[in-house]
Amino acid sequence: MGWPNLQQLHRKLTGKVAVISMFSCLSLVLFDAAQLYLSRKEHLEQAGREVANLAASLAQYSQGVFLTADTALIGLRNTVSHYGVEDKNLPVLQGLMYQNLANLPTLHGMFLFDAQGGWLVNTVPGTKADLNYADRDYFQFHQSHATDVARIGLPIRSKADNSWIITVTRRVYAADGRFGGVVDATISTDLFQNFFAKFDIGPHGSISLLNETGQFLVRQPYVASNVGRSIGNSNGWQIGQTLEDGQSFGFNSILDGLPRVGAYHRVSGTKLRVMVSRSEADILAPWWQEARINIACLLVVVIAALVLSHRIEVELRDRARAERLYRLLADNSDDAIVCGSMSGYCRYASPSLCAITGRSLPDLRGTGWLADVAAEDEPEIFAAFAQLRAGANLASARFRYRRPECDEVWVEMRARLTQSPQGAASSAMREFVANIRDITRQKHAEAELEEANAELSAMSVTDALTGIANRRHFDQMMRKEWNRAMRTASPVSLLMVDTDHFKAYNDLYGHPMGDQCLRHVAQILSSSVMRAGDLVTRYGGEEFAIILPDTIAEMGQQVGERVLDALHHHAMPHQAAERGFVTVSIGVASMIPDIGSNPADLIAQADAALYQAKHAGRASIVVAPPNIAGGNNAGVNNAGVNNAGVLVRTNTGQRSAA
Ligand code: GH3
Ligand code: MG
Ligand code: MG
Repeated sequence: MGWPNLQQLHRKLTGKVAVISMFSCLSLVLFDAAQLYLSRKEHLEQAGREVANLAASLAQYSQGVFLTADTALIGLRNTVSHYGVEDKNLPVLQGLMYQNLANLPTLHGMFLFDAQGGWLVNTVPGTKADLNYADRDYFQFHQSHATDVARIGLPIRSKADNSWIITVTRRVYAADGRFGGVVDATISTDLFQNFFAKFDIGPHGSISLLNETGQFLVRQPYVASNVGRSIGNSNGWQIGQTLEDGQSFGFNSILDGLPRVGAYHRVSGTKLRVMVSRSEADILAPWWQEARINIACLLVVVIAALVLSHRIEVELRDRARAERLYRLLADNSDDAIVCGSMSGYCRYASPSLCAITGRSLPDLRGTGWLADVAAEDEPEIFAAFAQLRAGANLASARFRYRRPECDEVWVEMRARLTQSPQGAASSAMREFVANIRDITRQKHAEAELEEANAELSAMSVTDALTGIANRRHFDQMMRKEWNRAMRTASPVSLLMVDTDHFKAYNDLYGHPMGDQCLRHVAQILSSSVMRAGDLVTRYGGEEFAIILPDTIAEMGQQVGERVLDALHHHAMPHQAAERGFVTVSIGVASMIPDIGSNPADLIAQADAALYQAKHAGRASIVVAPPNIAGGNNAGVNNAGVNNAGVLVRTNTGQRSAA
């Protein structure tokens, strides 16, 4: 028989919840890790795009700064070439320089050097007159290179005002085409430094302007030791050179060792590059914050899931253990256990019911357990269920299982209501659990006992020798009939019958024959009464008494006469009696009982009449006269009157007839 699906599920799940939950947690962790990994990747890629965009913008800015300086430089150089550097022209040149400076705020200063490195004109007030710039790299470059190119130098300290500057220089040709000096436009490194500082690239981010060999012109944030430093042999520089502008990449900084995301962008029209980089730590800080919350939540969920699954597991294990115990009890109990709905639908039956009903467990499923109930016992079961539905906690029924070719089995069912798992309010929704016990042997024993009791009670009112009612029954019935007659004011007649010369009979024929004779007399007496209520009893020894309810004396007398006739007719030999056959003497009395009278009065009258019948010669009937011992005689006779009673008949018998 199938247990409910839920219980099957319990059994299936036991021992697996922890595995399922661990697997689920692992999946959750993996999923979350993948999410975090993708989010981290996205953060880095986003940062890559941002640094590339910024590098492009700053390259554009730098290009503008250098182009502006060079444009101003070319204008100055052309003016110098046109006017020459005679002293009279110098104020014009200086005016041009100041005009440039005023119009172009990105310029720090402008210089004109002669062929020996001395300055002719400049825009830095207070510049010492004897300063010579022949030692400067750019001066020596232009002195030795007859090319008309702008040269951008590394940052240097200005000899004029000692500030950090970047120089943009061009060669000045003398009128004869030889080296005539240098024009110089200076840009303060602070210009770039301040501009680069405007961009928020995190605490560890950097923006650099580098030349083609990887030497810093500017690096924001400013570190004095980085000025002019080269990163040309660093890994980051090498990678950057292989990439197009705007492509970001990851690398470890040669300066601080931090992993970074960076991008280079060439400054158009120059050999310079702008590099923007952000440290991974800065980029991933918000991600890491999210991740920490995420991981904390995940941990809480995983721990909660594991604790919960552990509890479920323990609970399931306990339930499984309890279930095994219940099954063990149910399966090994002689009493069958049935559990089901109040409509009688069985969802569990223990194996003992198979032994009782002779059916298999699958056959007993549903309403199968009631299929073999004897039709006449079905109301018992309906009544028991009706009691449960009406609110009784316990109801019992006794019924039979009856199957063709099987012995009938009596069972006793004791059914109780169970609270449904949901605590259903209506009893119709509830379930019952019943134990069913085989009581066939008990039933048989009860039947046997009933039979024995009936026999016993029959025995208690029957005379063993003659089979007719005994003296006890006579007493009971006499009292009963007396009372009834008193209530209805009807007559009751009594015949006292005594076998004549019976001692002599015993003596002559022996006791067994005497017994036989008494049985015969009893039969004759029994067949002489006609009405259902008449009762023939053995009063004691060889005496009998016949109670005739609702009968007057005359009718009693007729019964007596039938007795005498029958005895005459049967004529059982009795050689010791004067008539030669067995006879009886009969005293008849009849009364309508009065209040205060009792059966002894009637018995005494009948006895007295019997006594008279004996004296009248036996084989006679004497009817007691009326109003003796307080009763009303209920019959009148007119023949053979003597003092005590009325002799109505004497059997002459064979002998006297002879
Ligand atoms: P009477 O005509 O005056 O009645 O004489 P009787 O001999 O019948 O009267 P008595 O009282 O002297 O004797 C009764 C005898 O009945 C004595 C007794 O042995 C016998 N008797 C009583 N009960 C039984 C019985 O159950 N079986 C047999 N065989 N005899 C019985
Ligand atoms: Mg007697
Ligand atoms: Mg007698």
